[in-house]
Amino acid sequence: MDLAAAQQVLKTTFGYDEFRPGQKAVIEQVLAGENTLAIMPTGGGKSLCYQIPALLFSGLTVVVSPLISLMKDQVDALNDNGIAATFINSSLSNQAINERLQELRAGDYTLLYVAPERLDSDYFIRALGQLPIDLLAIDEAHCISQWGHDFRPSYLALSTAIEQLPTHPQVLALTATATEQVAQDICQRLSIDPKGEVNTGFARDNLNLTVVKDQDTDRYILDYLKVNHGEAGIIYASTRKEVMRLTTLLQKHHVKVAPYHAGLDDDVRRKNQEDFLFDRVDVMVATNAFGMGIDKSNVRFVIHAQVPGTLEAYYQEAGRAGRDGLPSEAILIFRPADTQLQHFFIDESEMDDEHKHRAYHKLQVMTQYANTQGCLQQFILKYFGEASEPCGRCSNCTDDREAQDITTDAQKVLSCVVRLHSRFGKGVVAQVLTGANNQRIRESNLSTLSTYGLMSNQRQKSVSELIDFLTAAGYLQAVGGQYPTLSVTQMGVTILKGKGQVYRKTARTVQQSVPENS
Ligand code: ADP
Ligand code: ZN
Repeated sequence: MDLAAAQQVLKTTFGYDEFRPGQKAVIEQVLAGENTLAIMPTGGGKSLCYQIPALLFSGLTVVVSPLISLMKDQVDALNDNGIAATFINSSLSNQAINERLQELRAGDYTLLYVAPERLDSDYFIRALGQLPIDLLAIDEAHCISQWGHDFRPSYLALSTAIEQLPTHPQVLALTATATEQVAQDICQRLSIDPKGEVNTGFARDNLNLTVVKDQDTDRYILDYLKVNHGEAGIIYASTRKEVMRLTTLLQKHHVKVAPYHAGLDDDVRRKNQEDFLFDRVDVMVATNAFGMGIDKSNVRFVIHAQVPGTLEAYYQEAGRAGRDGLPSEAILIFRPADTQLQHFFIDESEMDDEHKHRAYHKLQVMTQYANTQGCLQQFILKYFGEASEPCGRCSNCTDDREAQDITTDAQKVLSCVVRLHSRFGKGVVAQVLTGANNQRIRESNLSTLSTYGLMSNQRQKSVSELIDFLTAAGYLQAVGGQYPTLSVTQMGVTILKGKGQVYRKTARTVQQSVPENS
């Protein structure tokens, strides 16, 4: 079996002339019988990486995918293409499952989609053991790693399941979101040689990243939709209540819109999803329950009306824009209060302390993204372990405000953090600097510090934002879980020693405009 055969299938079965970046390398490796980890951006074309080998192998390809709601659609689409595919998940009765297993044993299918929860059952694993499985494709493979942002315990059963399968199928793990640590974890758990990783990079050149701050959310969205009238887009919010509020608001302004969240009835959800997929509504307002695996190629914008909890989740959701490769917008509307909401979600969750700790850290990274003045794409790629140049397109790269030299203010903040022996967080640092007089300050005797009141001419909020900026820019670091404490980084020390300058772009001071022709 060689690449020429794969190229042939690409053309005749799927109607495409060329492979997308990464597809060829992945398929080549899979056909050579090597376990593989494929890291490709959303919309990169991961499905073909296992569908084409499935058609070339004589036995069965099993696809593990958490997207139960979409399994039927995917299988229908394959069937329409003349490919013998089927699925087994909790929507089927035991009898139906047994019938399908029988057909599978008879070799009636090329592809079988299963939900990861199936692997929790020994009965099912034994049933799989009777099937001639050549390839096990694991979609959304980051779900196997506790370092990832969407860990699913059922995925852990995969490694044991693989060992128990008598055919010892080869493994192809696929994901659009994996830090280096997550990638390592996936490889280790699924016995993939790290050399078997194919990573096309995370950059999405057609995606324009924007962070919006200090603006009224509703006004911003309404204005945006006016300018982009009729375009397909997704607006994400963090709570069902906010989803419904925004939906009502947009309906009032005659936007063709539908809501989506886990609290809606199944059939309502399904209808809304289809209305969006088939362009009967333009805008979907949704919680993060919407989107995984949604293959709508012409989504032109994804707006986050509230900040999500992790950068991985953000980039994955934002990446649902522009799967057709055409220019698209990913906009994050950032308000500090929404960070507190995410903080609250973590507090209230049932995670153990270690996981909470990690979740708080991820939220800090997300907040830094919102506050950085560096290239947004570069920030994301760096987070995923990829070096890159500034993109030249994002809202920071195109921010033409003059940068101000704020070295003196930065030094005040940094020295205050040093004086507090890195034992306090942003709130206390801002309070000390602005000379606040409250119980906390009195109890800890902080008003005697030399940096107390050093910035009393500024509001606490703006000092707080300055701290966010210095953290995002790498002069400070926030460490710790629920109540992170600030400390000065090596870069910050350089500034304290007077060996460098800090620049920051701030809102343009309003100038008297000069009339033309004068
Ligand atoms: P992913 O799972 O990586 O997010 P999909 O596998 O759903 O992406 O593919 C995204 C879209 O790209 C699909 O509509 C698919 O048909 C299309 N596609 C995949 N490979 C190619 C190719 N080689 N040429 C053109 N279109 C492709
Ligand atoms: Zn940029």
